[in-house]
Amino acid sequence: MPTPFEHALAQLQRANAVHPFSEDFLKIFASPDRKIEISIPVQMDDGQTKIFEGYRVQHNNARGPYKGGIRFHQDTDIEEVKALALWMALKCAVVNIPMGGGKGGVTVNPKELSESELEQLSRGFVKRLADVLGPQKDVPAPDVNTNPTIMAWMADEYAKITGDTTGAVITGKPLDAGGSEGRGTATAQGGFYAFNALQEKLGLPEKCRVVIQGFGNAGQNAAEIWSQAGHTIIALADSRGAIYKADGLEVEAVVHHKQATGALAGFPGAQEISQEELLSLTCDVLIPAALENQIRQDNVDQIKAKVVFELANGPTTPEADDVLFGKGVPVVPDILANAGGVTVSTFEWEQNVKGEHWTVEEVFEKLQRMMELEASMIFGKAEELKTDLRRAAFIVALERIQEAMK
Ligand code: GLU
Repeated sequence: MPTPFEHALAQLQRANAVHPFSEDFLKIFASPDRKIEISIPVQMDDGQTKIFEGYRVQHNNARGPYKGGIRFHQDTDIEEVKALALWMALKCAVVNIPMGGGKGGVTVNPKELSESELEQLSRGFVKRLADVLGPQKDVPAPDVNTNPTIMAWMADEYAKITGDTTGAVITGKPLDAGGSEGRGTATAQGGFYAFNALQEKLGLPEKCRVVIQGFGNAGQNAAEIWSQAGHTIIALADSRGAIYKADGLEVEAVVHHKQATGALAGFPGAQEISQEELLSLTCDVLIPAALENQIRQDNVDQIKAKVVFELANGPTTPEADDVLFGKGVPVVPDILANAGGVTVSTFEWEQNVKGEHWTVEEVFEKLQRMMELEASMIFGKAEELKTDLRRAAFIVALERIQEAMK
């Protein structure tokens, strides 16, 4: 199977076929500026020392400091982080924030670590990378399985090493450690603003039947936000299982159940289904909000959603994109749909740099304006070029990056 980075390169070529860029520019943009692999020692609770493999890929900084999250996952490797870093560079350009693209990761299942082990791992990541990170160099953030507590440990470690206590080196921190209002729900909230801007244009009904795969920061908040807006969430999945209820799941009760039991499975009154069944449900909107490579050539024919809205990074392969486009199923691409997270991260960075604190109203007002503007613009670009939304978003982003590189 192609790696996520190969997918990202294929996506670049496909956009280039619709709107050709200079060969030199594409060559430079396609290669990460820097790939760093580190070993992080952790003293485990049983007294033994264990070494974890970590990565930071700095893809492109033509538009600003490298920016992108850190993922803790057992399947993470450098190829995945390379793809995620490239997508970050495009994502920041799509929403026109002054940031480049980067990404980090550690190959680890953090659910198997104690709190002390997790803290050592988080601090160890920063110890190894302190000289290449910095508010004007490279600004990490949360991603899959990392959270505000982890960001606070990392910011604290960076402050200890460098003396820089502004917190601007990392975003997604808790509020009392220099975090921004609204960052916790920003990915889903930003997605919702983009969704609202596109809903009618995509031919969706006023009240949609929604399926969400993933129940981390993006998926859970999306379930809450879409259901509060009156849409019906008919199915949800976490990494362990999926639940379905034809007339709609009561999201608040599902959240309580997940908090109490650690899983979605077993939610009273819902039917347990497989991940494949979840993806193939008839619905208006399918929101992948977990990992890459979920909608592929071998299962794309099962998709019965009217629209795919990518809150995850890289959930749809290029081959599946073609099939969906051919069937007239729009895919709102990750680099637009989930850009709300990095947008509010950039607000956080700006507040830290300037020593300000913005209200939640200010944050969401700015976020809404930016998401609506860029979503409508990319929709228009796709119509103008008679292409899909992913290619249109790539083209808009590449034009902005090329301009900055000149
Ligand atoms: N990890 C998120 C993403 O994939 C957020 C990155 C950030 O806030 O820098 O967009």
